[in-house]
Amino acid sequence: MRLPEFQLHHPTNLEDLKDLTRKLQASGDCFDFIAGGTDVLPNYKNRLNPKTQVISLSKVQGLDRISPTCLGAMARVRDLVDHEDLARVFPGLVEAASLVASPILRNLATVGGNLLLDTRCYYFNQSEFWRASKGYCLKADGDACLVVPQKEICYATYSGDLAPLFLVLDAEFELHGPKGIRKVPAREFYQFDGIRRFVKNPDEILAFIHIPESAQNLRTGYRKLRARDTIEYPVMGVAMGLMTKKGKIEQLEIALTGSEAVPLWYGDLGFGGEPVGEDTAEGIQKALLERVKTYKNVPFPPGYRRSMAGEFVKELFLKLA
Ligand SMILES: Cc1cc2nc3c(=O)[nH]c(=O)nc-3n(C[C@H](O)[C@H](O)[C@H](O)COP(=O)(O)OP(=O)(O)OC[C@H]3O[C@@H](n4cnc5c(N)ncnc54)[C@H](O)[C@@H]3O)c2cc1C
Repeated sequence: MRLPEFQLHHPTNLEDLKDLTRKLQASGDCFDFIAGGTDVLPNYKNRLNPKTQVISLSKVQGLDRISPTCLGAMARVRDLVDHEDLARVFPGLVEAASLVASPILRNLATVGGNLLLDTRCYYFNQSEFWRASKGYCLKADGDACLVVPQKEICYATYSGDLAPLFLVLDAEFELHGPKGIRKVPAREFYQFDGIRRFVKNPDEILAFIHIPESAQNLRTGYRKLRARDTIEYPVMGVAMGLMTKKGKIEQLEIALTGSEAVPLWYGDLGFGGEPVGEDTAEGIQKALLERVKTYKNVPFPPGYRRSMAGEFVKELFLKLA
């Protein structure tokens, strides 16, 4: 399948990037950013909301640093997997990174692109020909959602592996745009109407992800449900951070991907201070299952995906405890 035509821009520093976005905005041009391109380009090939102007971030200096307290958005997913300090302090994050797609895709894929991944749906990630025959959907070219028929909310699923870990770690996202720099807590970054999925403005880039030092006190883990053991998005993923003291839960952070249109943070589900053990694990499982929603929008039954969230959370809790 061929890409549609677009003009590609290659700014080399953040100042030039700002000037370019200002210029494109002033001329009324719609644009996309591109990092590794592993999500944007397949979507463009399927004619899913392509733009005529594309700004590549690959040559912008200084966005690829990696440390346990700060990750550049242009750091490659592969570099997370290979990073010894990260593996020591946040094994859950490195585990999640190692499960993204395939080795070739991880070489191209960036952390920022992963966090800003477009949502996925059976009715959306299809060719133009397929979608035309179905009459299109709210997310591209149509005006009603085909998963839950109505015209306000898109029910495609957020399917990135890394976001739930950053929710667990209480990270902050640093955004750079023509109007300046701002930091937004990851837990307030994602919002739910399916079309506008985060508080980032279209002219802002995600530049850095800051992780508080206190997050290093958590033991972290990640479990993922997917159709095959490689090259597959999560159709359910559970991340957990746990700190215990004298056999009781001191801090528990749970987050999900692969369920709704945004990754979701659930905190400790009311189990702070509870003793560590099988009964608490089953309580957490039950409490999570009461909250998890899944829809018929990917090729996996919603009930099965939901029940696996429960299995994963129980298994992770017992493992980390
Ligand atoms: C076959 C296949 C399997 C896959 N499997 C998985 C999987 O198992 N798990 C998973 O999580 N992902 C998976 N992916 C999706 C994708 O490969 C990864 O999520 C990857 O990390 C996306 O990063 P990227 O740099 O390629 O993003 P891009 O495609 O370049 O960008 C993705 C989106 O983010 C925006 N963007 C990127 N960086 C920035 C930035 N710094 N600031 C502002 N906007 C930005 C782009 O405009 C675009 O909207 C898969 C993809 C394919 C094709």
